[in-house]
Amino acid sequence: MMASHRFVTEQFTALHAGATAGLPSSATRAKGTARRASCGTPRRPLDSARRAAESFPALVFTACALLAVVLTIGTAAPVFAADEPTFEAGFAKQDITPPVGMPMWGYGDRHADLSEGVLDPLWARAVVLRAGDDKLALVGTDLGRGPTIAMMEVIRDRLRSEAGIEHVIISGSHSHHGPVIELTDRPGYGAGKFDVAVQYAKELPGKLIDLILAADAQLQPARLGVGIKNVALNRNRHTKRQPKSTEPMLAVVRFDATDGSPICVLVNFAAHPTMIESKILKYSADYPGAMHKAIADELGIESMFMQGAAGDQSANPPQGTSGHEQFGAVLGREVAEIARSIETAVPAEPSIVGQVDRFTFGSRIDFNNPWIEVAYGRAFFPELIKNFAEEMKGGVPAELNTVVLNGEIALVSGSGEYFCNHSNRLKERSYLPHTLFFGYANGHNLYFPTIEAVSEGGYGADPPVSPVELGAGEQMMNQALINIYTLTGQIAPPPRVPSGDAASATSD
Ligand SMILES: [Zn+2]
Repeated sequence: MMASHRFVTEQFTALHAGATAGLPSSATRAKGTARRASCGTPRRPLDSARRAAESFPALVFTACALLAVVLTIGTAAPVFAADEPTFEAGFAKQDITPPVGMPMWGYGDRHADLSEGVLDPLWARAVVLRAGDDKLALVGTDLGRGPTIAMMEVIRDRLRSEAGIEHVIISGSHSHHGPVIELTDRPGYGAGKFDVAVQYAKELPGKLIDLILAADAQLQPARLGVGIKNVALNRNRHTKRQPKSTEPMLAVVRFDATDGSPICVLVNFAAHPTMIESKILKYSADYPGAMHKAIADELGIESMFMQGAAGDQSANPPQGTSGHEQFGAVLGREVAEIARSIETAVPAEPSIVGQVDRFTFGSRIDFNNPWIEVAYGRAFFPELIKNFAEEMKGGVPAELNTVVLNGEIALVSGSGEYFCNHSNRLKERSYLPHTLFFGYANGHNLYFPTIEAVSEGGYGADPPVSPVELGAGEQMMNQALINIYTLTGQIAPPPRVPSGDAASATSD
C-alpha cells in the first residue's frame, strides 16, 4: 500500500526584527493561532534589512515576517526582549530506572519476559538553551525510543505554558535494555497484566517535564563550541554492497558558563546500543552509560547522549576491546579529547528558530488487518502491538524537527531508525557550519531505510520492521534541508496554498 504523505507544519520563529521595532519579540510567545504562522522570518534583523535591499524574494520574505508580527498583535500580551538576546544554557539529569517486573524494550525474542534487575541505572539528561525569548529543550534518555505521540503532547503543552519552551526534542539512546514504555491503562493494552509498566508509562511524561524544568531553572549565560571528529567506531550491519556506508561523525557540543566553568557536553554518534545479550533481563544504558562514566572520569563534567542515524549502524569496538563497558570507555575518551580541544565562545548573534513537520506516510503493512496484529503479537507480545498498531492504523505518523541554533548549528531529529546515508546526505547538502542528526526522537516509527537499501532488502529495509512507504526518509530529509535554509533566511518559505491535504492538515 503506497500513498503520498500529507504533512503538518508548525513553525516557531524568533521575530527579532519585531523586537528591534518595539513589537512583540517572538511568535513563539504568542499562544494559539499565531503559533502556527506559516511565514518564516529571518533570524537576524540586520540580515533581514540587508536581504530586503538585495532581492525581491527577500522583500516578500520580510513582508511575510511583518505579517506574522501583525497577526501576533492582539493574540498575546506583547513581550519585549532586551536589545541583544543573551545565550543561556542549563543542564539537569534524572534517574529514570524503572522498577523490576516490566517487559523490556527492543528484542522480539524476549516477548513479554519481565525484567529481573539492574546492571546500571537508566538516566534522562536535559539541556535547555535560551536565546532571547526562545527556548529549546534537548533530552537524551537511556530508553529504547522517544516518547509516544500522546506523551509528547502532554510534555509540549506543559513546557509551553510553564516555561515558554516551544522547541522540544526528546530522544532515546535506543538501549535494548530499557523498559517497554508503550503500554496503556486499558484491558488488552496492558492494564491488569502489566500494571507496573502501565504505571511507569503514566509517570514518564511528568518525570521528563520535571527534568526539563529543572534544567530550565539552571539557565545561566553561556558559551558554546562544537568539535567534530570522524572515527571508525561504527560499522554497517545491513548492506553487503561495497563500500559499506557508515556515519563516522562523532560530534561534541560543549556548553560552558561565561567564566569558562563547564555546564555539560552533548555527544552525537550513531551506533546501536545492542552490546548486551537479549537473555540478560536487567536494565542497562549499554555503551552510552559507560561513555558518560568515562567522560566524567576524564573531565569531571556532565554529558548527554543523542543517538544518531543508527538504523544500519552497529558499534565497532577497536581491536583488543569488547563489550559495552570497554566500547563506551573508548568512545568516552574520544569525546573527552574532542571536548578538551573545543574553544567555547559567547555566540555573536544568539537565536533559536525551529519547525516541526508532521507527516502521515503510507504504510507497506496494513495494521488494520487483524491477522497482521496477531502475527506481530506473536513476534513481540500482543499488548505492545495493540498500542503500537493503534498509532499506525491511519498511516505512519512521523515527526521531523528542525532547529537552527545561533544561525550556525542545525539540529534535525526524526521519529525512528534512520539509515546513516539519510544523515550523511543531509549534512553534505547543508551549508551551515554544523548539522547534527538525532534519531529515535519524539515518537517512534521503526526503520527509515534509504531507497537503495530497500532495493537490497534485509533487516531494517523490509516491511515487517520498516512499514513506512518507500522514500519516506528521503522526503523528510528534503524537508529538513528546506527548513534549514528557510529558517536561516537563505530561501523564502514556500507559499501555503489553501487547498487539499495541506489545508486540512494545517487547520487541525
Ligand atoms: Zn534498532
